[in-house]
Amino acid sequence: MGARVPDEDARGAASEEGAGPVIRVERGHEPEGLEAIRKAEVKRLAAIVRKAPPRATDFGNKYNIARRDLWKAQGRTCCYCECRVDRLYNDVEHFRPKTRAYRGGDRPTHGYWWLAWTWENLLFACPRCNRRHKKNKFPLARGSGILPTGHSPPGPERALLIDPSGKDDPVDHIQFVPLHQAGKREKWIPVARGGSRRGKRTIHVLKLDRPALVTDYGDHVADLVNHHVKEIRDAIRAGDGRAVAKAWRIALKRLFHSRQVFQALSHDVLDHHFPLAIRQQWDLTLARPARAAR
Ligand SMILES: [Zn+2]
Repeated sequence: MGARVPDEDARGAASEEGAGPVIRVERGHEPEGLEAIRKAEVKRLAAIVRKAPPRATDFGNKYNIARRDLWKAQGRTCCYCECRVDRLYNDVEHFRPKTRAYRGGDRPTHGYWWLAWTWENLLFACPRCNRRHKKNKFPLARGSGILPTGHSPPGPERALLIDPSGKDDPVDHIQFVPLHQAGKREKWIPVARGGSRRGKRTIHVLKLDRPALVTDYGDHVADLVNHHVKEIRDAIRAGDGRAVAKAWRIALKRLFHSRQVFQALSHDVLDHHFPLAIRQQWDLTLARPARAAR
């Protein structure tokens, strides 16, 4: 429909250099009942939108029928920061915001109201990622078109946020790197892999390098991952192929089981200590982490 994003999108990205812990999510089948709700609710909203822009309260909360299925498919973790979410207290997350959307300019414009009950637009996120950081943000690349009302994504849109359930693997865009400071515990920080613009923007919008998370990443590495790194390294030093394979197998089982947190981080810590050449030498494989409905 000719709508375009103003040429401003470099502004929001600013100087933030962090990147994050998003991994792929496969939702599985749409929950029973969502289709009927979608049909009725889209019709109801269309009547409201004809008169005035919808308000948040116009949407109700019937999309929450999808909440439990999403939570289970995601291994009870946030789709963005991968922290554990033990309770189902918050709303589902709309990847394309439903009421209004900040696409790059200073002010929000219309949201994707017709996608508020669309399975492919729904995710489960923690309150910090959803309510404090992402909110209505949906930055688009400079010069990107805007999805026409009623259409299915992506249409002409070139989204800068990485969709955990989209076709791109978030791990291609975001990488954890260690930060060593004398006398302090090793830190792991997410950065844009290979300078990925989308990785950079996703970290920035979701604040995936916020201090509380960086502390949690450090705890995860110190309390869990480093134990396995040591076991694998000891076996390699001993030159014992069977022990190496066993330690690797145990590490993968512990670090990547369906409900385990911070899998992108664990992946990158293993990749850091045991890069591809070492893995090939010892016949070890390191798959990309993902969460899927079972
Ligand atoms: Zn989160």
